[in-house]
Amino acid sequence: MLIIVDEDAFLSMVKLVGGEDAARAVKLLMKKPSLSDDELSQKLNMDVKELRKILHRLNDLGLIAYDVYREKDSGHRVFKWRVQQDQVIGFAKTQMRRVYERLKARLEHEQTHQIYWCGTEGCRKYTFEEAMDILFKCPKCGKTLLIVDNSKVIEALQRKIMELEKNLQ
Ligand SMILES: [Zn+2]
Repeated sequence: MLIIVDEDAFLSMVKLVGGEDAARAVKLLMKKPSLSDDELSQKLNMDVKELRKILHRLNDLGLIAYDVYREKDSGHRVFKWRVQQDQVIGFAKTQMRRVYERLKARLEHEQTHQIYWCGTEGCRKYTFEEAMDILFKCPKCGKTLLIVDNSKVIEALQRKIMELEKNLQ
């Protein structure tokens, strides 16, 4: 079974390194693994020589692989292509881990940095230390500085982090 955690991210990377046609070929191989050069070129309506160049380039990059079969009658070697499953998963996991680390840092920031505000449009916001220095009173409008509720942001971050944790295990 091919688990693609982030198919779009993977395909856009293939497109980046191999071009539009490479992305089309890989997309097809994701749905239908083990197609030969000829089958692929027919389905994609591409010149088989061009396609072979692309396939071998992707193979060099470790993104796809092939199995070689021998045709019974002619004895010709046939290449059947497939997406490198581990590579796809590895790539997607790396991407996810990056997002995960960013969200964790953001959560920690939200949890440790409370923001105080008087609620008046145009007045600035203060960190806890700054608010303490001015005794929780806005120097501009004189209103009391209150903590800005970021619990919704924290909740949303925690939900997303948990989701990612499940996928990264
Ligand atoms: Zn104010």
